Amino acid sequence: MLGRAGKPSTIRPPWAKEESQFVELCSRCDKCIEACEERILVRADGGFPAIDFSQGECTFCEKCVEVCPDGAFVAVKGSAPFSHKIKIESDCIVFKGVVCMVCRDQCEPRAISFTPVVGGLSPPILESDSCNGCGACIAPCPAKAIKVISD
Ligand code: SF4
Ligand code: SF4
Ligand code: SF4
Repeated sequence: MLGRAGKPSTIRPPWAKEESQFVELCSRCDKCIEACEERILVRADGGFPAIDFSQGECTFCEKCVEVCPDGAFVAVKGSAPFSHKIKIESDCIVFKGVVCMVCRDQCEPRAISFTPVVGGLSPPILESDSCNGCGACIAPCPAKAIKVISD
């Protein structure tokens, strides 16, 4: 994940409170990490939980939120799980003339599409408003061209 300055930053679990509140409240008990059946939560810097989308996607099962004893999450109802955005970079193999639609096939909300271009490449188009930040497109991309952008 890249921050605004292009530096790596950390992806907290879905519905995590704002960063300064989160690290204040989270006691690093590992309960959310253990509860995640997708195994995408890892112990990151300082022992705080973070998402590793190279391991899989978030299914929004809410288990991490439910087991937290420290109030480090916002209420699920009425809140967006993630504020990050997804970006498809120019490493995408379609730009090298290879046919690939792996990301589109992984995307449940259908946020990625390919518009046929006569005699040319059909690059992936990401509709950010439809993307829920689940990360399902990230690990399967053969070019590792899909990145998370922090807000
Ligand atoms: S919502 Fe479920 S899948 Fe997503 S990080 Fe939490 S426990 Fe894991
Ligand atoms: S999966 Fe990766 S390489 Fe394939 S079309 Fe999507 S961004 Fe490009
Ligand atoms: S992160 Fe966004 S673009 Fe990628 S699969 Fe999930 S909803 Fe689709």
